[in-house]
Order: sequence, then C-alpha cells, then structure tokens
Amino acid sequence: MAKTFAINAGSSSLKFQLFQMPEEEVIAKGLVERIGIGNSIFSIEYGDDQEFEMTEDIDDHGRAVELLFDKLQEFGIVDDLEEITGVGHRVVAGGEDFKESTVVTDAVIERVDELSEFAPLHNPAEAQVMRVFQEKLSNATMVAVFDTSFHTTMPAVNYVYSLPYEYYEDFQARKYGAHGTSHQFVANRAAELVGKPIEELKIITCHLGNGGSITAVDGGKSVDTSMGFTPLAGITMGTRTGDIDPSLIPFLMDKLGIDDVNEMINIFNKKSGLLGISGVSSDMRDVEGAAGEGNERAQLALDIFANRVQKYIGQYIAVMNGVDVIVFTAGIGENSSTTRHRIMDPISVFGALLDPERNDTRKEALISSDDSDVLIYNIPTNEEVAIAREVERLK
Ligand code: AMP
Repeated sequence: MAKTFAINAGSSSLKFQLFQMPEEEVIAKGLVERIGIGNSIFSIEYGDDQEFEMTEDIDDHGRAVELLFDKLQEFGIVDDLEEITGVGHRVVAGGEDFKESTVVTDAVIERVDELSEFAPLHNPAEAQVMRVFQEKLSNATMVAVFDTSFHTTMPAVNYVYSLPYEYYEDFQARKYGAHGTSHQFVANRAAELVGKPIEELKIITCHLGNGGSITAVDGGKSVDTSMGFTPLAGITMGTRTGDIDPSLIPFLMDKLGIDDVNEMINIFNKKSGLLGISGVSSDMRDVEGAAGEGNERAQLALDIFANRVQKYIGQYIAVMNGVDVIVFTAGIGENSSTTRHRIMDPISVFGALLDPERNDTRKEALISSDDSDVLIYNIPTNEEVAIAREVERLK
C-alpha cells in the first residue's frame, strides 16, 4: 500500500503526483495555482478519469497542502494519510552542497532556504512546503531531489565564468544548470535503448519545454549544460532570452527608463524568448501556427529557436570530442517533429540524420535513419517518476 508523492512547489503553485509504489502507477495528480494571489485554483485528476476543480482563496502553501490532504481522503484516494510513506520534493537550487538527492532533515530545509539567493522564486516556497509536509506526515520518508545535482559533476573549465576568480571563491558565482533530473532520466533511458553501459556513451540531451536546456553527458556524467547561474542562460526559451550580452542591461534600462535592474531581469525571464521575438505567444504550438499562416516574426522565432539549439549541439560535440546519441525530450522536444527536423536537418555535417518517417512520432522511439552515424531518440521525460524512484532508493 506504499504511496509516494512527487511534489513540485513554485512561488505561487504546488504541483503533485501521487504514485503507488513500486508499481509507479499514478493514482492522483493535480495542481494548486495562484497561491497567495487570490482566486486560487485547486485541480485534481484521479481514479478512472475523475476530475475535480475548485476556486477559493488559498493564502499559503500550508493551506494548499491541508486542502490536498482533505480532498485525498474525501475522494477515497487514500483511506488514511499513513499510507503515504514517501514524499519527494523537487528543489531548484542545490548550490554546491547537494551533489545528490538527500533525505530531508531540519538542517537540509534550512540550507535550502539559505540557497534562496540562487533561486529566489523557488527555494523559499520549497523550504516552506517541506516544513508543512514534515509536520503533517511525520512518519513518511522525505527526500529533496535537486535540479542541479546531476550537473555537480561538471569540471571547473565548464562551470567557472570568465570573471575575477574571487567571485567564484567568495560568492559561489558559477554555472549550476538546471533540469538535471530530466537530463539524467533520459540519458539513462537512452543508454538502455542503445543497449550499452552509459559509461561508454557520449550523449547530448535536449530538454526543450517552456524552459529548455541542453546537456553534454559523457560516460553518464553531466560535463556541461546550457543553463547558467540561473535558468535564464542558454537557448532561446518560451519567455526567456537565453544567452545575451550583459551590456544590453544598462543600455536598455536607459532607453526604457527603467531604474530597477530586477525589472529588466524580469523582462529577460518573462517577456522574451519565443514570446518576445514573435509577439504572438510563448507556446510553441501557437508560434508554429502563426508561422504557418505567414507571420514573419513567428517564423523568425522558430528559426532562432532552432539556431540556438544547433549551436549548443555543435559546442557539446566539441566539448566531448564526439557524440554517440542525441536525445530530444520535454513538451517541444517530444511533440514537435517539425522542430526536431528544423534543428537537425541543417547540421547534417555531424552525421546525425533524422529519418522523416521515424521522426513523425510523439512517443519513445529511435528517430535517426539507418545510415546515421549518431543515434537520435525521442524519449518522453518523466521527472515525477524520477523523483518517486529517488524516494524509494533512499527509504
Ligand atoms: P513543457 O514545459 O515541457 O510542458 O513544454 C511546453 C511546450 O511544449 C510549449 O511550448 C508547448 O507549445 C510545447 N508543445 C506541446 N505539445 C506540442 C506539439 N504538439 N507541438 C509543438 N509544441 C508542443
């Protein structure tokens, strides 16, 4: 009867999936949105396509968790909260401290809170949610799973910025990356599909969702990744700039009459990327739709998106001095065969060739052609299962 939660808390949201373990069967999943904003929405799916949604003011994450527990019992999803024997929490920033998933103690929660400097929107909420779960499910094993852990194997040559070195030593200002759970999950799955030990493979994983990052996985270890000190760096994303020249900050602040640098960073995080370039939407489906109707800025957004991914693939072939496998995953990577085609077709020089028919899929599949030197896979990511597995492993 062991049930395990995978919890993903954001500043105003709480996503959850409840698994029956070890079967990994999803018995409920849902989302609380607009926490602390008013008109909060609680939604849950469970059983045989049963759904429930309600709107009320939910003032904080503590109340969100209380409501979740009430509804789990009311809908008969659990008879007794004691059935929930594990809780895995996704944590965005683990800094240099957390090299792997860790059983949650008071000291761990405190450290996650202290690392809020590195993820101001996420870590405080995650620490608060861990405290609430610790209080309400004191017998369950709680595990923190860090987005950054997988990337702690990067060598200094890839994580130290070309800044005065003391900034790294004194303030830990360096590249941390993100999406580690996803990159690790699909890299391991790719090795299984290839049928070789991951230690023998050079893999490039392309996590292309609303947020996106590319990782070079050499011998099973992350050696470089496109996100940086924060998730703002790297490829063009739904609303984030990806890499840009920091000199634009004072220039644009002056032109736009902005005094607060955080306002500028907010524009880089929330109003840029596909949304900013196209002026249409941050959602790839909308941008592809508009481009199909002849919208030139939408087409430019698609071209820039592909171009940035191509450049990182090229970089990471250089970083690893080769590549055996390229993996596409996440909302865009898994579902948009046209995006995969737009990325891979112009870089045939690397010997990674898509097969047009195999590429026409949204499922786990080999999508490269028989004459490709590099295997290309489409592998749906599943960060929630990966989190639940970490809880089981550490129980
Ligand atoms: P994620 O953050 O992983 O949920 O990914 C969200 C992104 O995936 C959004 O940009 C969606 O437009 C995109 N996406 C989902 N399904 C499709 C699809 N069928 N074609 C193109 N993009 C898609």
